[in-house]
Amino acid sequence: MNDFLRHVARFTGTPQLLGRSLGTIQINLGPRCTLECHHCHLGASPRREEAMSREIMEALLRQLHQLPHGACHTAELTGGTPELHPSFRELVAKLCALVPTVRVRTNLVIHQEADRQDLAPFLRDHQVILTGSLPCYLEENVDRQRGDGTFRQSIAAIRRLNTLGYGVDPRWLLELVYNPGDATLPPDQGRLETQYRQQLHDRFGIHFSRLATITNMPIGRFRADLRRQGQEQAYHTLLQRAFNPQTLEQLMCRHQISVGWDGRLFDCDFNLALGIPMNTPHPRVETLAATPATRAIATGDHCLACTAGAGSSCGGALVA
Ligand code: SF4
Ligand code: SF4
Repeated sequence: MNDFLRHVARFTGTPQLLGRSLGTIQINLGPRCTLECHHCHLGASPRREEAMSREIMEALLRQLHQLPHGACHTAELTGGTPELHPSFRELVAKLCALVPTVRVRTNLVIHQEADRQDLAPFLRDHQVILTGSLPCYLEENVDRQRGDGTFRQSIAAIRRLNTLGYGVDPRWLLELVYNPGDATLPPDQGRLETQYRQQLHDRFGIHFSRLATITNMPIGRFRADLRRQGQEQAYHTLLQRAFNPQTLEQLMCRHQISVGWDGRLFDCDFNLALGIPMNTPHPRVETLAATPATRAIATGDHCLACTAGAGSSCGGALVA
């Protein structure tokens, strides 16, 4: 039994975590990215070439058609940089016809590329929610984590998105994502959102809809950094000590399925990064509609990052 399940059992009496619903389908189009961030759990970079094939995409759409009406309320596209996928726009348009909410996890800087200036208006026309990574309101911290020049490009991208209504008009949501620059837990999400709002408005005149704080997962490049600095065990201890049983009900794996670019199914994008498949007989996209919402979630010690403090998910903190 892993350390995470030991903590779960201590508070629930059972060393297992069961799913609750299939409300969100997260779709990873591939790890190719225009950036190469230090904290990336997936090891995404411009050199990665894996991408979802047309066959898998079509199988996915067929499965979404077969889901009971109302079972899935959100489809979320992620990567890498999902916008780099050659069928990105076609998929967005088809998903918008199938599910009430479509969200794209964007690195923001893609919107500054000269040949992608029509991307944001396209997303606006489809009322897609944008969730962009901006791990600090200070240039030095962002550039250290994501690469030189990314802060200025991100600010310019947000400014342009604001002119299209994103982050300004409630119809076009622009969410920003914070994660710590070191081996600590995120601060209080509400208080940090107030600071972000003030700093970004006063210094750059830009706006956003909400801030999500995410705890760094001890996997991928962040784990490699922890190891280099001899901090892996200390971070594990920090996550264990901060275990919060109140986060268990809202853990994102209990309310979603993650579809990998190769068609495999996972309980979340972190398990995808680790190659830990879902606990079902054939965890492939062709069986998505038949996947039981109440399956036993596949877990590991990394799950402690989701239950530490206020909890963590792709949507931010889990409890106040
Ligand atoms: S964290 Fe996001 S933007 Fe950065 S390399 Fe990974 S996928 Fe790309
Ligand atoms: S890492 Fe994934 S499986 Fe583990 S608790 Fe978090 S969301 Fe659930």
